[in-house]
Amino acid sequence: MNNSLKPSSAIRNFTFLPVLLFLFFPVSTLRAQNSQGSLIEYAVSMENPNNHYFHIVLNYSTSGEKSVQLKMPVWTPGYYMIMDYPKNLINFNVTGSSGNKLIWKKSSKNCWEINTESEKSVRVTYDIFAFRTSVADSFLDDGRGFISPTGIFMYPEGKKDHPVIVSIIPYEKFGEISTGLDPVPGRKNTFYAAGFDVLYDCPILAGNQEILRFETGGIPYTIAAENLGKIERKKLIEDYRKIVETSTSLIGEIPYKHYTFIMMNKGMGGLEHTNSMAVFSNRLDIGSSELSGGWLSFIAHEFFHLYNVKTIRPIVLGPFDYDRENYTDMLWFSEGVTSYYENLILNRAGLFTMEDVFRELKISISNYENIPGHLFQSVAESGFDSWMLFFNRSENASNTTISYYDKGCAIGMFLDLAIRHKSGNNRSLDDVMRTLYKVYYKGLNRGFTNAEFREVCEKTAEASLAEIFDVYIPTTAEIDYSKYLAYAGLSIDAEPVETPGTWIGTNTRDEGGNLVISRVEWNSPAYNAGLSPNDIIKEINGEKATAELLNNILSSGNPGDKISITISHRDITNNVEVMLGRKTIKSFEIKLLPNPSPEQIAILNNWLE
Ligand SMILES: [Zn+2]
Repeated sequence: MNNSLKPSSAIRNFTFLPVLLFLFFPVSTLRAQNSQGSLIEYAVSMENPNNHYFHIVLNYSTSGEKSVQLKMPVWTPGYYMIMDYPKNLINFNVTGSSGNKLIWKKSSKNCWEINTESEKSVRVTYDIFAFRTSVADSFLDDGRGFISPTGIFMYPEGKKDHPVIVSIIPYEKFGEISTGLDPVPGRKNTFYAAGFDVLYDCPILAGNQEILRFETGGIPYTIAAENLGKIERKKLIEDYRKIVETSTSLIGEIPYKHYTFIMMNKGMGGLEHTNSMAVFSNRLDIGSSELSGGWLSFIAHEFFHLYNVKTIRPIVLGPFDYDRENYTDMLWFSEGVTSYYENLILNRAGLFTMEDVFRELKISISNYENIPGHLFQSVAESGFDSWMLFFNRSENASNTTISYYDKGCAIGMFLDLAIRHKSGNNRSLDDVMRTLYKVYYKGLNRGFTNAEFREVCEKTAEASLAEIFDVYIPTTAEIDYSKYLAYAGLSIDAEPVETPGTWIGTNTRDEGGNLVISRVEWNSPAYNAGLSPNDIIKEINGEKATAELLNNILSSGNPGDKISITISHRDITNNVEVMLGRKTIKSFEIKLLPNPSPEQIAILNNWLE
């Protein structure tokens, strides 16, 4: 068992012993005490931020080895896509203790092999171009220095568990540094990680962010936000506190000693970490004084990940292989069930009504049921192939793929309702989460296999859950929603209903005055007539095509009418006849059944407030 392979354990263990050490010994003493007798210390500076380069200096004291392999990860845990971070690196240089240049060569895209010439210490310097705004990319300008650590720091092969010290030398106009890393007392802007898994799990934001603080359960929480606009700070803290308290009381144990919410403006997405999260606030309405339900769901999602995926996790998701894809077909659980818990957490925290939960579940189910992708891709496949399909969507994505967030959320609900029903309302998915945390994270210090996960679910239900595990997760078979919702005295409207007007199955966009097709739905009239994404619609029924003309024709036409469309692609112009059709969708509206049994009422009341 190696604690430093697990970020949360490492943080917990570190704060227990070394904090005491810091109180009584200078840091140099601490350094000397690391188990492998060597030092790995990074300094990151950002002198000319509008050139977008971080300058990195690594001081590495060797253990006498003749060669050192320095490796940079090619992906970031939680962001399941190969990012190839070394593409941002220039000016790699290595010197020995007297400043002499050492020889190095690259042995793969992310590995630098250094000949140490038996030097006791080597100094490595390089620059990283940081100009993409995503939670998995570093970014630097005169307003923000965001360090996504996997794309900045290299680990010496074989020493992933070695303690690391990181000093940040901020741009002169930056006043704050926010991170989940533990500060090194007495050394300004200097932080400690018990190993590289911990370092890679702790993004760092340097800038002039506003700092809000609160404490609950004896644990300090920091909110580091770039732009909160008119949002009422007190209310924000109260809402966050409720999310924290509800989530942590669900599992009953907190695996960190401090937590940091990093909130950056202008950008999309969020990424979970064991004792921090980094989120972009495009979805935050800073003109309003209150946080929207959508924003609070987002925060609840990223926060609950500290359990589901960071500690409660499929066996493949930690310790990580930073060189390549880490495949799992359980992202429906790690992501989708986290989405399911967003709703429960907000409901239990008093931030979502029962109707809010029904609405969110309806949206998740509609998102995959009303696109053709649900006929082609199971939720297990959706997660497994996320590396090539999910973050890199093509024009055809909704025809052939679904989101493991959406269907995984529904599977979470089926599991929860089935366990509640089969256990006579005595147990729920919460018991599964607590068991997984206790047995696999705490007890065995590892993730669980698919078989172990199923076993915990079925033991908790004291019944077979074969329909969910053998049919709904691995296949695209039609789902009997009513059966599961009825366990809680609810109905769900899964009847296909025709939408008003007619339909040909295209989405369009305006491109310099041209009406361009952006998406064509599988098996739709447009698809069967051979229309394609990126086709320019020149004319409809002999008139110059506009979005308004197309809408008018579709809303006033009748199914079976034929329209003539002139399209152009790659300098080829064609006339195509398209027969207008009728679109059907299912609403998945969730409502109370008229005469629920006492058992159904009890399950509903136990499930939602
Ligand atoms: Zn997530």
